[in-house]
Amino acid sequence: MSILAVGTIGYDTVETRNGSVEAALGGSVSYFALAARYFAPVSVVAAVGTDFREGDRKLFAERAIDVRGMVTRDGPTFRWHGRYHEDMNVRDTISLALNVFADFSPDLLPDQRRSDFVFLANISPDLQQHVLGQVASPKVVAADTMNHWIANDRAALLRLLPRIDILTLNDEEARMLSGEHNLVKAGRAILKMGPDTVLVKRGEYGVLQFSREGLFATPAYPLEEVIDPTGAGDTFAGAFMGYIARKGGVSESALRTGVVYGCVLGSFVVEEFSVNRLAMLTWDDIERRYRGYLELTDSHHSRWTSQ
Ligand code: AMP
Repeated sequence: MSILAVGTIGYDTVETRNGSVEAALGGSVSYFALAARYFAPVSVVAAVGTDFREGDRKLFAERAIDVRGMVTRDGPTFRWHGRYHEDMNVRDTISLALNVFADFSPDLLPDQRRSDFVFLANISPDLQQHVLGQVASPKVVAADTMNHWIANDRAALLRLLPRIDILTLNDEEARMLSGEHNLVKAGRAILKMGPDTVLVKRGEYGVLQFSREGLFATPAYPLEEVIDPTGAGDTFAGAFMGYIARKGGVSESALRTGVVYGCVLGSFVVEEFSVNRLAMLTWDDIERRYRGYLELTDSHHSRWTSQ
């Protein structure tokens, strides 16, 4: 079953302690779609400018990502410049230019309006609502958000939350939205705002999942070296949502396995700048690391208790 995803596609300049890239393909939906497509078909909704490189459009199309909803508008493409601290969990936004995305108000194609699975990446809650309002009867709706909207557009975000099933956000954002410092209290408070599932992304510390069934906590896949953390959250969401779509809906078991695939794909994307590693994976790479992850988190000691 296919997924409709709306968000940014743009060019990122990124500096980390391991180097830098300039105007590399990025944006929330780029990462999301390139991860989700390993599990389910994806159709994107985004605006790019006249400077968008043909090779980047091809990169999506060659991976069977539906780009009919990627419209080219007069003007420059969305651009973001970020700089990571020595502690890569912390980054500063040096500049952000919405450009052609600033007044983007998409009209979905007729088949997109019939989507069963919808992902509203980190864009203004009003734009998220505008897109969601055009989808006739979605089965599962997930959304991401960020500190900017929580601080500056809280009312619109609070209106959106009862209309979605799953919210993804990072630990600081969960604290901001809930007003609770403790993450368990924060997750539970956000559940009361509307979504049935809240996924709190904690970077290298993993993910906390709050659902009607309770709490599920799982670590990030430990890596010796992180080159560029950009897009880890959107990649996580892409693999997670891709798995849910492949399973045809939400169950506690699909949620948990989806979270694990999210952590697995998230661990690949940070191994290189931009989407370079993410775009080139094979299913074998994914399954090998997935099995490694299961072994790593095997707290039932199933392999050893029988010895
Ligand atoms: P993540 O590291 O998962 O938060 O995603 C980073 C991606 O989000 C980058 O590729 C940026 O281009 C994009 N991005 C950064 N800031 C914003 C913003 N304010 N709105 C939408 N997308 C953004």
